[in-house]
Amino acid sequence: APRIGVLALQGDVLEHLRLIERAGAVGVPVRREDELATVDGLVLPGGESTTIGLLLDRTGLAAPVQARLAEGLPVLGTCAGAILLAREPRQHDGTPTGQWCLGALDVAARRNAFGRQVASFEADLDVAGLTDPMRAVFIRAPWFEDLGAGVEVLATVATDVGARVVVVRQGPVLASAFHPELSDDPRLHRLLVDAVVTRDPA
Ligand code: GLN
Repeated sequence: APRIGVLALQGDVLEHLRLIERAGAVGVPVRREDELATVDGLVLPGGESTTIGLLLDRTGLAAPVQARLAEGLPVLGTCAGAILLAREPRQHDGTPTGQWCLGALDVAARRNAFGRQVASFEADLDVAGLTDPMRAVFIRAPWFEDLGAGVEVLATVATDVGARVVVVRQGPVLASAFHPELSDDPRLHRLLVDAVVTRDPA
């Protein structure tokens, strides 16, 4: 079975490891470069993206993670993890945050995009490729905007100001603005495992 790492610096590491196992793969916590070297795919959990960025730098994992992504390592970034994957993180008002990012996904990620009044909410989302809707838990979530030509929209959520993009894919890179581990739904992790298996057929 493929080995899928969970970046274990902050966030719901155990919950992601369980979803990976339910998706038919082996879950591996990743805190060090030698652990990163053993995985065939990676999950970047939610949390706080500037903190995780800082921890990636301090643990010496920033460059190795970036190098593996450049080689096409399949990855799923959720919420803060999705912000870290983006080309350009933006503040709530649309100005660039200037924070360090992995830059593996050709989107701008607008942080805390849904605003303070609706810091957290849930919605049932239709996700392209999945038969039933996904219960999505958003917590100070970003949305994705200014998508590059290679980026596919897998799901949007309706807001007062129109539909906003919340799940995207660009080749082996998957990102969701919400926390799939909080609704205990393994289907995005299954898409990640599929990307690994398609890349390295057994
Ligand atoms: N608001 C956080 C950030 O900007 C993300 C929140 C989350 O991961 N739930 O990094």
